Amino acid sequence: MSFDSLGLSDALLKAVSDQGYTTPTPIQLKAIPPILAGKDVLAGAQTGTGKTAGFSLPLLQRLMENVDIKLKPRKIRALVLVPTRELAAQVYESMATYGKYLPLQTQVIIGGASINTQTRLLRHGCDIVVATPGRLMDHIGQKNISLSNIEILVLDEADRMLDMGFLPEIRRIMAYLPKNRQSLLFSATMPGAIKTLAATILKLPVEVEIAKQNATADLVSECVYGIAKDNKRELLSYLIGSNNWQQVLVFVRTKHGADRLEKQLVKDGIRAASLHGDKTQGARTKALDYFKTGKVTALVATDIAARGLDIEELPHVVNYDLPQVAEDYIHRIGRTGRAGASGSALSLVCPEEAYLLEAIEKLLKRQIPRVSDTGYEPVSLKVIDAPKKNAPAKNSGKKDFRHNDKKTTPRSGRSVPKPANNNKPKKRIPARG
Ligand code: AMP
Repeated sequence: MSFDSLGLSDALLKAVSDQGYTTPTPIQLKAIPPILAGKDVLAGAQTGTGKTAGFSLPLLQRLMENVDIKLKPRKIRALVLVPTRELAAQVYESMATYGKYLPLQTQVIIGGASINTQTRLLRHGCDIVVATPGRLMDHIGQKNISLSNIEILVLDEADRMLDMGFLPEIRRIMAYLPKNRQSLLFSATMPGAIKTLAATILKLPVEVEIAKQNATADLVSECVYGIAKDNKRELLSYLIGSNNWQQVLVFVRTKHGADRLEKQLVKDGIRAASLHGDKTQGARTKALDYFKTGKVTALVATDIAARGLDIEELPHVVNYDLPQVAEDYIHRIGRTGRAGASGSALSLVCPEEAYLLEAIEKLLKRQIPRVSDTGYEPVSLKVIDAPKKNAPAKNSGKKDFRHNDKKTTPRSGRSVPKPANNNKPKKRIPARG
């Protein structure tokens, strides 16, 4: 099926074709028609499925249906709430890309950027606001913004907004929106809290489920390396170097861990950068840009910082630490194998994380294949002592002498190779849009 059959205007079809898209993705096929028809939509779609175009294209078209291009200043008619600054930037780019032939303006309202500049831009007026909930509430509090003309509300990555504790802000923001509006909620997972939120925000929604609930992208090949904690860094450097990987996103649990691993990788001769919440917006943008353009090979990121990153054709994701929340595994894996491209996702799992692996596999309802020959002494990933819910991991951070987690030399006696000198990407990775 082509885009032509979806009922999109010529200006949007031309923008889509400029992007080189020929076929709508499943979420676009299912979500665009009901959104164009003015219905509320509850969509289960993870990042990488083309969901942003799935809501941006019909949203732009709906706004064009009764636009007054002479109106000055413009009134805000659509609000897109997102969990992170990076995702806000990406949604903004999508609106600009798909709306390039339309006279609609978008503004971004995010924390970590000057509130005064945002206030000035808001005074000029715009049609669409893409915002993180906290900073939007600040502007509402300072009466810098009116949401009384909102016709379309989008909650993007709603599960992540709840994980990040934005529920109170979302509820408060709802009170400022007109009751008569179209609402769209996109979420990678559909836990009970999302269904409850959807019930309060959406009216008779059309439900669109694309990836099976709790499924990871089919094109991603996954595997688990059972490895002692102390050997993880060496194995990671070896994998990057020996496979001559050009672009790998590495997930760690903490900001401190991200900084530390970045330094260690650099010592191993790998060009690395890190991305986490303690970095300034400028440093984050720079790290992401270096990663996208191939100036760095490895981007070490925490879950929150990496949420929503859209890097086209990202080939490798490594879980250096397993996530504490099993659903995050699905979000992480969604970084690769995007929109039809294939990717690999490796998890370096130490015995102390066996219970986290168990929780992930329970959620996925399948076992992730194990790599039997890691080059190191095999370790057991059998769960012996899972910490109780909400309690800190009992054996985390300590040596667990029931397992073989002492530093061992690779059986093959290999040393960590330096990446090849010609470690430049063969292909420049295009920034989105
Ligand atoms: P998203 O899930 O919205 O983050 O989109 C993931 C990626 O898919 C982005 O890089 C989009 O540019 C790309 N994309 C979106 N729609 C299509 C399409 N119909 N065909 C090919 N790529 C697409």
